Amino acid sequence: MAQSVKGMRDLFGAELRWFQHIEETARRVFGRHGYGEIRTPILEELDVFKRSVGESSDIVNKEMYEFTDKGGRQVVMRPENTAGVVRAAIQHKLLTSNDPVLFYYIGQQFRYERMQTGRYRQFWQIGAESFGVATPESEAESLLMLHGFLTELGLKHLVFSINSVGTPESRPAFHAAFRAFFAAREAQFCEDCHRRIETNPLRVLDCKNERCQAALEGHPVITDHLDEASAKHHARLKALLTELGIPFKEDPRLVRGLDYYTRTAFEVLSSDLGAQSALLGGGRYDLLVKHLGGPDVPAFGWAIGLDRLAMVLQQVHGEAPREVPAVLIPLGDRAATEALKLARTLWEAGVALQLETRGGALKKAMASANRMGVQTVLILGDGELDGGTVTVKHMATGEQESWSLEEVATRLAKS
Ligand code: AMP
Repeated sequence: MAQSVKGMRDLFGAELRWFQHIEETARRVFGRHGYGEIRTPILEELDVFKRSVGESSDIVNKEMYEFTDKGGRQVVMRPENTAGVVRAAIQHKLLTSNDPVLFYYIGQQFRYERMQTGRYRQFWQIGAESFGVATPESEAESLLMLHGFLTELGLKHLVFSINSVGTPESRPAFHAAFRAFFAAREAQFCEDCHRRIETNPLRVLDCKNERCQAALEGHPVITDHLDEASAKHHARLKALLTELGIPFKEDPRLVRGLDYYTRTAFEVLSSDLGAQSALLGGGRYDLLVKHLGGPDVPAFGWAIGLDRLAMVLQQVHGEAPREVPAVLIPLGDRAATEALKLARTLWEAGVALQLETRGGALKKAMASANRMGVQTVLILGDGELDGGTVTVKHMATGEQESWSLEEVATRLAKS
C-alpha cells in the first residue's frame, strides 16, 4: 500500500478543523488591520533563497528541496515565504510609491529536516509583512495584530520576547566586544560557534548547544552597543508595548543572524503548554528589499508555524469549534425524491444538513448519525409526507417531535 512521503502528512478531521479555524481567524483579524493576502509560487529560483535566507544558514545549506527542472533551471520548493513575497513585491513594482504595503500569506513550506515531534518536511506558515514604514509605531501595530490574532484564538499566556540587533553601522562595536569575550573562553564553545564567530558572530548567541549557552554567561549585550537612533527606536517600542499592555521581556540572546536584519527581533512564547515554547519569530529587515534588487524600502514581518499552533490549540481547547450538520433520512422511494427537494430548500436557506442517500434501513442511518455526533435527525417517511411534516429526533435527549415542513428551516437555523 502506498504511503505518504516521509515528513509529509495528510490533514483531515479534527486537526484540519483547527487549521481552518486558525486560517479564518487570520483572514478576519489581518483584514481588519488593512493587510491584503498575497500568494506566491511554491517554486522559486534557488538564488532567491541564497541571497535572502543566506548561504551560511542551515536552511540553505542542508534543508532545501532543490532540483533542476526540465528546462535546466535550478529551483527550490520554498523553505519560507518572506523571500518570495519580497521577490514578488519587487517584480510587480509594488514598492515604488511611498505608501505602506501590507501583506499576509498562508502557505506550505518545505524543509528537508530531521524528523522530530511537531517538525515536518512540509509544514504551514502564516505570516505578515509590512513594507515602507520604519517606525516603532508600525512594529507596535503589527505586534498588536499578532496579539489580537492569538488572543482571538483563545491563547492567553503570551509573552513577547524582544531584542534589538542594531544596524550594520552599530554592529562592529558589538562584534569587537563579543569577539574579545569569546576569545577568553574559546575552548568552551562548540565547533559551529568557532565557525560562527568568524562569519556571523551574532549567531553564537542563539546556538542550541547547552554548553555554549552556559559559556555565554555574562556576555556583552547588543543593546549596550547600539547607535543612538537604534537605541531610541528600541526604547520607543518598549514604551509603546507597555502603553498597550502587551506583556514582553527583553531577551539579549534573541537574534536574527543575517546582515539585512536590523533593529527589532522578537519571538512570542506561550506558556499554555506548560513549559514556555516559541510559537513564532519575526523582526525588522530594512535591508532585504534592496539586497534582493528592489528599492530602499524598510520592512517588518513575522511568521508563525500553523502546525505547531494547531497542536497548541488542540491541547488547550480540545476540539476546534465546528458545525455538525443535521441529518435528513428519507424512508422509501417517494420520500427519497421529496427529501432531495426539502434538502435543497434548506441548503438555499443556509442550513447545514447532510442528506442520507443510501436508502435502506432507518436503524443503520441512525447509527451513522450517532457516530458523526449529529444533534438533530430529521426523518421523512410516507406518514410524514401525507401530513406535510417531518419527524425530528434530538439525539442528546432522545426526544422526538413533529415539525411542519414550512417551519423546518427557521427551527433548524435556531437550534
Ligand atoms: P522559522 O521560519 O524557522 O523562523 O520558523 C517559524 C515557525 O515555523 C516556527 O516557530 C515553527 O512554528 C514553524 N516551523 C519551522 N520549521 C518547521 C517544521 N519543519 N515543521 C513544522 N513547523 C515548523
